Amino acid sequence: MGDPFTTTRRGGFTAEQSAALELLRRSSRFLLVGHVRPDGDCLGSQGALARGLRQLGKDVAIVNPDPPAAVFEHLGRGLAYGAFDGRLPEHDVAVLLDFNELSRTGAMAPLLERAPSKKLVIDHHPYHGRPWWDAAFVDVSASATGVLAWRILGALGAPVDAAIASAVFTSLVTDTGWFRYSNTDAETLRLAGELVAHGVEPAALYGGLFQRRPADEPMALAAVLGRLEYFADKRLAVTDQPLGNGGAPELEDGDPLLDLLRAVESVEVVLYLRELEPGQCKLSARSKGAYDVNALARRFGGGGHVKAAGATIAGPLAEVRRRVVAAALESLPANGGGAR
Ligand code: 5GP
Ligand code: MN
Repeated sequence: MGDPFTTTRRGGFTAEQSAALELLRRSSRFLLVGHVRPDGDCLGSQGALARGLRQLGKDVAIVNPDPPAAVFEHLGRGLAYGAFDGRLPEHDVAVLLDFNELSRTGAMAPLLERAPSKKLVIDHHPYHGRPWWDAAFVDVSASATGVLAWRILGALGAPVDAAIASAVFTSLVTDTGWFRYSNTDAETLRLAGELVAHGVEPAALYGGLFQRRPADEPMALAAVLGRLEYFADKRLAVTDQPLGNGGAPELEDGDPLLDLLRAVESVEVVLYLRELEPGQCKLSARSKGAYDVNALARRFGGGGHVKAAGATIAGPLAEVRRRVVAAALESLPANGGGAR
């Protein structure tokens, strides 16, 4: 069969990527670190890399600021996803997957910064500051960090098994909205086919990931949708969730809400603010046109991609909502009937 990874990538690696591969080859103790509230791409790429590195005889631990949501339990068979308890296991290389700012690790950040380990970033997000890491395997054109984990395992010669395939598939479907978003490219679809050949059952994974919603989620959604407001000829949709969600169940996952609002024909940009604690709000922003929500999120200290970005913003919910709406309206290009 030859190299199982060849259909995904025939080109070479950049000098920076080659140096990252060299660091992976020559090191033996790894700590894989994710971001707060790790999503399917973060967890999937961690799962794939952890399993592959172990097959190569390396010592690997995964520690994230938060435990994985229950829908990701298939990733954890035979693999412990640790939740940060104030300590870091001993390691030579900390591998940061699916983000590029240490602050995204929440309470882990100061310890990671102080640890003498090398820091390796594996990511597909754009980065605008000065590089602070020791090594990086970055490709902003990759649909998911899981794609990069796959390329890395291929380069290292790790054997592929069904668990690795399932983890990478989880990454792909998370970040492409099950192959619907504009980041779905030929490599992604070829890789998906290859992963199915390695034992992934898409329908089973779909059921496990997307058809296990909590019974009270529709009520939570209804309450959040009750605070929906449109602006600029319904090109901008905005809603929020205050602490306690007005007595309704809490909406834990914003994705179904964001998808629903982005499906409205006139809507180009969706903004969703969740009050995390008094004076602390989480912005989730989505775009379905040319509008760059990453640029918007960066104005508030966050980041992400052109079509999906976020930020944690200090201030009371109502005030933060006003500020973010004002910034979005200001930067929404005036077409299709005017921006205001
Ligand atoms: P979500 O809205 O699902 O939390 O995040 C959407 C995208 O924005 C993801 O790619 C995520 O990495 C990025 N993102 C979310 N919150 C933040 C943040 O506080 N800072 C940065 N830099 N990126 C974020
Ligand atoms: Mn990602």
